[in-house]
Amino acid sequence: MRGTPQFNHKTCTGCGACSNVCPTRAIEIIDNYQSNKRKIRLWLGACIFCGNCRDFCPEHAIELTDKPVAPSPSKWIFEELETELAVCEKCDKLFSPSPLYEKVNELMLRDYQQRETFKKICERCKRLYYAKIYTKTLS
Ligand code: SF4
Ligand code: SF4
Repeated sequence: MRGTPQFNHKTCTGCGACSNVCPTRAIEIIDNYQSNKRKIRLWLGACIFCGNCRDFCPEHAIELTDKPVAPSPSKWIFEELETELAVCEKCDKLFSPSPLYEKVNELMLRDYQQRETFKKICERCKRLYYAKIYTKTLS
């Protein structure tokens, strides 16, 4: 039996993939730029227990439990988890959930033997950073 999806708060990186694949938009991503926090909110009333979120989560951080969901026509019930957003060291823009950045950093070091720590900078600043390096190499 498929029941309530449950997040693993320890392994979720806040990437948002589960929200993208949810056919009923039952998973909402809420970025708060004042508190530097991202919330992943699951609206249980909208969930049809298809299992997409579980199947596509790269961290295997979602389980479909056998907990039934009580119907709630007037007010949807929800569960949520919260994660920190990382701030770009160059332009101070919030750019990625911190656990996701840490994970990418770890994989880059492991799989690509990248010597320096993956720069904690947003996509735009990263492009500028590497463009400067390549320009110097070519000149
Ligand atoms: S790690 Fe899994 S549960 Fe967390 S946001 Fe990404 S897809 Fe969703
Ligand atoms: S089980 Fe399906 S409907 Fe429910 S939250 Fe996951 S993807 Fe959305």
